[in-house]
Amino acid sequence: MDPLPHLGQSRGMASTLRRPASDNSVSPFLVIWETTQACDLACRHCRACAQSEHDPLALSHPEARRLLEQVRSFSDPPPLFVFTGGDPFKRADLFDLVQYGSELGLRPAVSPSATPLLTRANLARLKECGARAISLSLDASQEQAHDAFRGVAGSYALTMRGCELVRELGLKLQVNTTVTRHNLADLPSLVKLLVPLELMTWSVFFLVPTGRAQHQDAITAEECEEVMHFLVDASRYLPLKATEGHHYKRVLLQRQNAPGPENELRQELRGLSAAWPARAAARRTPMHINSGDGFVFISHRGEVFPSGFLPLSAGNVRRANLVELYRHSPLFELMRNTDDLKGRCGACEYRSVCGGSRSRAYATTGDPLAEEPLCAYQPEAACPA
Ligand code: SF4
Repeated sequence: MDPLPHLGQSRGMASTLRRPASDNSVSPFLVIWETTQACDLACRHCRACAQSEHDPLALSHPEARRLLEQVRSFSDPPPLFVFTGGDPFKRADLFDLVQYGSELGLRPAVSPSATPLLTRANLARLKECGARAISLSLDASQEQAHDAFRGVAGSYALTMRGCELVRELGLKLQVNTTVTRHNLADLPSLVKLLVPLELMTWSVFFLVPTGRAQHQDAITAEECEEVMHFLVDASRYLPLKATEGHHYKRVLLQRQNAPGPENELRQELRGLSAAWPARAAARRTPMHINSGDGFVFISHRGEVFPSGFLPLSAGNVRRANLVELYRHSPLFELMRNTDDLKGRCGACEYRSVCGGSRSRAYATTGDPLAEEPLCAYQPEAACPA
């Protein structure tokens, strides 16, 4: 039995969570394309294990144009589309492709790295080509900590300058932060730094131990629970989303009925935020998407993955149609069926709004349907065998 309808009615889910306008089994809400693996940074947790040189086997310009056309054919309105990397600025045809995507009716966003290529001229040209939003990564409130994390001195200064330029140019700004053992205690100070930037979104990413990311850098399930409650508080001041942290939605629903347990992060945020006005528009209602369920990632060589952190391929856009793979491949159909989840996720009354991180389950156990290791919740029902 699906407990969702009852849960939604009794706990006000409809106003707390959003579902995309299109059916997730027909069209993704969000499509991310890894334009290149090339990047001049050496981040500790890099999913892409980025290299300094562009891969000659990456999708060619004509292949990339065909990919954009296929994305456009999903639905009307089309999915949100993000050019990521590596560093997209390392791809010489980036501007042409952003322009083409924009002409097709996509609303492109670009996720560049904070390197000397992040200039006013390059950002202004992206805007001229039709880019709507830029996302930049910031992992600490202090220069030294951020630069150590990113592996390059000067990265913090370039990121902060990039944020300024994006705002000056009138582009929307998203900041991405990866939560690890190293910056856990710094999260309240990061919020203090980010509130004045009037972000479109603060994307708080929960580490998946894949690529260069290590298990020992990850926080525990109990610490994650504290961060989730902290984020519910922080969402009064800036719009945020939890990436690969789907149980934020469960915590948000629980917080409708109870204040949640106290913790040091929440207390520190309260101290810092005493002078901040709560922003009426700050709370960004979480969207119901998960790996392969409203979301698709295409690698630089054209492999179609349910998530950039779940390296199981449904096929390649060089040989198959993206729309067909998303709608009908056994892998993507499996990803959308929460009834097959195992362990606590399989028993959980929140599974159809949460479902846990399939990427983290796979990275930890080798089974994408295994229970989410970073969630401390104990469901009311017994776990399936
Ligand atoms: S047990 Fe799984 S489905 Fe339930 S809240 Fe935790 S991660 Fe989500």
